[in-house]
Amino acid sequence: MRDTFQLFILAALLLVLVSCGSQKKITVNTKVVHDTVYITDVNPKYHFVTEASLPGYVISKQNFPSVASNYRVKFLVMHYTVSDYPTSVKILARKGQVSSHYLISDKPNDSIDILVSEDRRAWHAGVSYWKGAENLNDTSIGIEIVNPGYKKVNDSLVFTPFTEFQIRKVAALAKNIIDRYEIDPVNVIGHSDIAPLRKQDPGPAFPWKRLYTQYQIGAWYDDIDKYSFLSQYIPDTYPYNSPLEFQKALEKFGYKVELTGNWDKNTTLIIRAFQWHFRPEKADGVADAETWAILQALNKKYRSTK
Ligand SMILES: [Zn+2]
Repeated sequence: MRDTFQLFILAALLLVLVSCGSQKKITVNTKVVHDTVYITDVNPKYHFVTEASLPGYVISKQNFPSVASNYRVKFLVMHYTVSDYPTSVKILARKGQVSSHYLISDKPNDSIDILVSEDRRAWHAGVSYWKGAENLNDTSIGIEIVNPGYKKVNDSLVFTPFTEFQIRKVAALAKNIIDRYEIDPVNVIGHSDIAPLRKQDPGPAFPWKRLYTQYQIGAWYDDIDKYSFLSQYIPDTYPYNSPLEFQKALEKFGYKVELTGNWDKNTTLIIRAFQWHFRPEKADGVADAETWAILQALNKKYRSTK
């Protein structure tokens, strides 16, 4: 009886100790064998993917499975390939500095291809930046979607829509990745968000709003905030007409912006990348009232320090 009581106390203590180290609720399952309490599972989501295997030595996963860790993968980056499926496979799977973890083809019954294991770096992001993080190849998973990209028509870019089955595949895959790595909604981004001066993908035809509303994927503003900020907007008045204030707001959300205080070419490209993501109906690189209001609404929702 005394032993059982001690075991109970020990199990309770373990629960308290393990819970203290993390803000997340952690379930501790225990098993009692001959007066010894074994932790069978600290967190149902916790698992080992790769580990050393040494002939002649035992490497145990059971003794001290630590909860003091987080995932290396922090970002999910969306792309389109520009090329058709066979060419995309050739480019992404050959030896060289271009690859991606996943590839979604343009045929409805094709499988979703995994080209690079999730625990390895793929080379899809290039020189990149998001909210203080650089070289996002180190910390991201990349999804490439077969889509021809854009055509130039009278100086404007006309993008090709994604197919319905591609959108559904992207949604299912993204949701699964986001859940497994607990990726922050603001870290689900496009290539043009993290490299706005040189990249256009996945472009304004990518259904960011639908992914958010239908599948709870990524970040999106609340309409009530957008209209509230819009009602405050006074044209030709500081801070609404200030390039510096706009650049600071873009930087606060995540973009790499040089705080030049001018409506220069780079700032225009970054605003256009922002619009492709959050106001695809009109992506002209102009910091108009609606763009300003959406940016403020996003910063209020995701970037305000509480
Ligand atoms: Zn890309």
